[in-house]
Amino acid sequence: MNIDWPDALELGPVTVLTGLDKGKYPHGNSMLVQGSQETILIDPSLTVAHRGMPTQVDQIFLSHVHEDHIPGMSHLKDVPVSCHEADAVGLTSIDGLMSMYGLPPSVEEDFRQEVIEDFNYEPRSDVSTFSDGDVFDLGDAEIQVVHTPGHTHGHCAFLVPQARAVFLGDIELSGFGPYYFDAHSSLDSFEQSLNRCRSLDADHFVTFHHKWVISGRELFLEMLDAFENVISNRESAMLDFMSEPKSIDDCASERFVYRPSVDMNFVGHVETRSAQIHIARMVKQGRVVEVSEGIYRTTDH
Ligand SMILES: [Zn+2]
Repeated sequence: MNIDWPDALELGPVTVLTGLDKGKYPHGNSMLVQGSQETILIDPSLTVAHRGMPTQVDQIFLSHVHEDHIPGMSHLKDVPVSCHEADAVGLTSIDGLMSMYGLPPSVEEDFRQEVIEDFNYEPRSDVSTFSDGDVFDLGDAEIQVVHTPGHTHGHCAFLVPQARAVFLGDIELSGFGPYYFDAHSSLDSFEQSLNRCRSLDADHFVTFHHKWVISGRELFLEMLDAFENVISNRESAMLDFMSEPKSIDDCASERFVYRPSVDMNFVGHVETRSAQIHIARMVKQGRVVEVSEGIYRTTDH
């Protein structure tokens, strides 16, 4: 296809437009799918915003609506954009996008500015939507939509059988593990989606961030296990900590998500969300009990 792009990876009809630092946040790896009739760009990254598009594009598909997956749309203002219906609210207005994150006002104020100024956010009124199982024929190549909610309600993976490739978006297989701390996130859905990913019929697994492209099914499944284990390791560490009665705030201060060295203004919010999510779930499972109001302890069995 001869796309002129530094570090591009070509897999038949698919070209991975590798982002700066292999797509490390705030950058990301976009994916181009070129059929004989149509070309679709998946997740226009900040690197695309900086460099511009190397070729003509007929449509934009989004794995989900988050600030780092849309900045390149600034070069593609007249190109139709589609995402899952559950995420469309984030494209139609900045307030809609902010409602998906659900940040406290003290954090949201700066982040809202950043999304507009650094990630080129502009609302789009003409958003199309797709659903699980939809298939788009580009001519000699197709894109199959696989709904993988959890990170956001509308997060989707895209399978391109002709390239034996799948775009995984923010199922990004990093050591940090799954990110499920937003208002529009769900831990249970994320786990179900990870399970669904095990049966994806592909050989190349394209992540949006710095793990880049994983080639080989076995390696992918190993990395998927490690990614998912971050969740159970977090719960084990919390159960140890709660062998003595603790509050949500105690758990948040102990930090089960970020290392103590990370000093960003959203950390407190994320740690609190994480503590709430896991404690609620472990209470339901009978692994944790509320011993007095707002105080929790690991059960003995
Ligand atoms: Zn995201």
